[in-house]
Amino acid sequence: MAVFIGCEAAYKDADIVIYGAPFDSTTSYRPGTRFGPAAIRNESYGIETYSPYQDKDLEDIKVYDDGDPELPFGSPDAALEELEATASKIFKDGKFPLMLGGEHLVTLAAVRAAAEKHPDLHIIQFDAHADLRDDYLGVKKSHACVMRRSYDILGDGRIHQFCIRSGTRDEFLFAKDHTDMHKFSFEGLDELIEGLKKSGVPVYLTIDLDCLDSGIFPGTGTPEAGGVSFNELLKAILKVSESNLIGADMNELSPMLDASGASTAAACKILRELLLAINV
Ligand code: MN
Ligand code: MN
Repeated sequence: MAVFIGCEAAYKDADIVIYGAPFDSTTSYRPGTRFGPAAIRNESYGIETYSPYQDKDLEDIKVYDDGDPELPFGSPDAALEELEATASKIFKDGKFPLMLGGEHLVTLAAVRAAAEKHPDLHIIQFDAHADLRDDYLGVKKSHACVMRRSYDILGDGRIHQFCIRSGTRDEFLFAKDHTDMHKFSFEGLDELIEGLKKSGVPVYLTIDLDCLDSGIFPGTGTPEAGGVSFNELLKAILKVSESNLIGADMNELSPMLDASGASTAAACKILRELLLAINV
């Protein structure tokens, strides 16, 4: 089985556990994110294990790659239950779960497991989309609703959203009262992290890769122009890693929508930097 480059530790020795969530049943526009995790693993051999940004190497950290589970397509509830059980086990074993989507709905599974272990959890979301719809065409468990369902668990002021540039008027009104939304960029992230560091609260990071500009990341189902650059995202990840980060995911790569492979290569590089940034 292919694993992400440099992630060859045994489960018992690992500090970080990567697991795939190859699920895209509720995708509202162009499907294909189910192929994201496998593409990231296969293409990871095109990048180096060494990061000149952080002067760290994947060979120096202990990561186990659990591969992809076979998920029941067409049944979001069953898929979410399975993914939640995976995350819960990783938490129970004292390791850091890092999930590769898949569509963004899969984050709900990890958030459930994280909130179970850490009731005072905060979420930081990087995304072009607010994902705060109460339902999408009547469906409550959709990738367009994932932060609203997370809100149902966590409540007011615990979801911090960055790079948001798309949503309904209702979603933006909801955000005003209930979430900490930062439109278009990472403005406000430094101040947020300083505050979260002081209180020491546990933080879960969810990276919807469509936060990146669609010019550099076209391989995604609902591309949105006007996004952030690779370097801005990298800087933001490093900033978040200063907080009490307890879990993370990266989602919404749809590799077949970018035949050049550049989107998948960008995702590989972001995963490498995220792995190296995590303090375990
Ligand atoms: Mn999203
Ligand atoms: Mn999105």
